[in-house]
Amino acid sequence: MNYDDNNIFAKILRGEIPCKKVYEDEFVLSFYDVNPRKKIHVLVIPKGKFVNLDHFNKNASDKEIVGLIKGITLVANKLGISFDKGEGYRTLSNIGLNGGQEVPHLHFHLFGGEKAGRMIG
Ligand code: 5GP
Repeated sequence: MNYDDNNIFAKILRGEIPCKKVYEDEFVLSFYDVNPRKKIHVLVIPKGKFVNLDHFNKNASDKEIVGLIKGITLVANKLGISFDKGEGYRTLSNIGLNGGQEVPHLHFHLFGGEKAGRMIG
């Protein structure tokens, strides 16, 4: 699976395009979605070059996998929407054509601040 170095999130990771940053560590970057679908809508992405979740699980190191999964809760805690610190949220990752993925760099959406609504619209 080829990773496109010119995808928009690769440019954000390289600092070529600005983002409204929420959190960053060795493994992940999190920033607000430019087109929010809920009161709080942020994205969490791995720093490595991974196209989608399947590509990630096949190629990422265990450290990277743990870093991304834990990063989701770190971000949710920071935003005050986690199970522990808030009222919960929805996370989802679109994968490929049928998943409706637009940006070919793995990302998890976090929707919070209000009820997420129907699971599939
Ligand atoms: P996908 O459909 O690939 O799961 O979601 C891609 C998401 O990236 C969309 O929700 C879209 O609004 C968001 N997005 C696309 N371009 C940009 C950008 O340049 N900056 C930010 N912050 N979000 C973006």
